[in-house]
Amino acid sequence: MSRWLLFSFAVGKGAAAWCWLVTGAPGLAWIFFFGADLLVLYHVFVPGAQGLLRVVTRFQTQEREVWLTIDDGPDLHDTPRILAALAQHEAYATFFLIGEKASRHPELVHAITEAGHEIGHHTNTHPVGSFWCAGPRRLAREFDMAMAAYSSAMGKGTVRCFRAPVGIKNLWLGRALRLRRLTCVHWSVRSWDSTARSPDDVADRVMSRVGPGTIILCHEGGRLHPAVRVHAVTEILKRLHEQGYRCVLPSAEQMRPSIRS
Ligand SMILES: [Zn+2]
Repeated sequence: MSRWLLFSFAVGKGAAAWCWLVTGAPGLAWIFFFGADLLVLYHVFVPGAQGLLRVVTRFQTQEREVWLTIDDGPDLHDTPRILAALAQHEAYATFFLIGEKASRHPELVHAITEAGHEIGHHTNTHPVGSFWCAGPRRLAREFDMAMAAYSSAMGKGTVRCFRAPVGIKNLWLGRALRLRRLTCVHWSVRSWDSTARSPDDVADRVMSRVGPGTIILCHEGGRLHPAVRVHAVTEILKRLHEQGYRCVLPSAEQMRPSIRS
């Protein structure tokens, strides 16, 4: 947790105690008391909020370059097709893989890295509903089991980025990432492909917000509508190419904190 967030939390709780005990204003005391909690919850649940740890939401570039990221794979149906589409456009992407799926399909993990793309950490079980309240031990299991699955299957490269399930963070996350030298990378543009029914709608949404240094969030796998699966990524790649954008893997330098978010 950043110092200013910890300080704000402590001030809120202190003000609540002061209102309750000294001024005899219980209404104000409740506001300060729960206001401090809400402030912390905001930084846990809002994907781009920076109070708990530094979250990369853009990268630095002067060129027409974007960072395409694809979550929730690997997937036997989607991953090979997405790899083919990326190759067709000479584009590179980061695949934020779920550890359990990666251990079931090591050949896909290998194929991703062999093609020059990057593996990102996306937890072992993708615990959307409970990641925010997981304790340090469970968090360590999520990290280390997934990392073991990636490491045994990767052909080359290292895992340097982490993305929390649906972007919801955890009070212990900053420490867990520091220990493993991982950077938390979320996104600038959410494609909402998980809920869409048309690849054109997804591509329209993405392209209306894209610019140099944009991080685009897409997904793969059976949770997507059949009309959107793979086709949305293909359509985005086609339009990015038409508009002169390249899909690149940014360096650590380009992810520095000075980026605007
Ligand atoms: Zn996910």
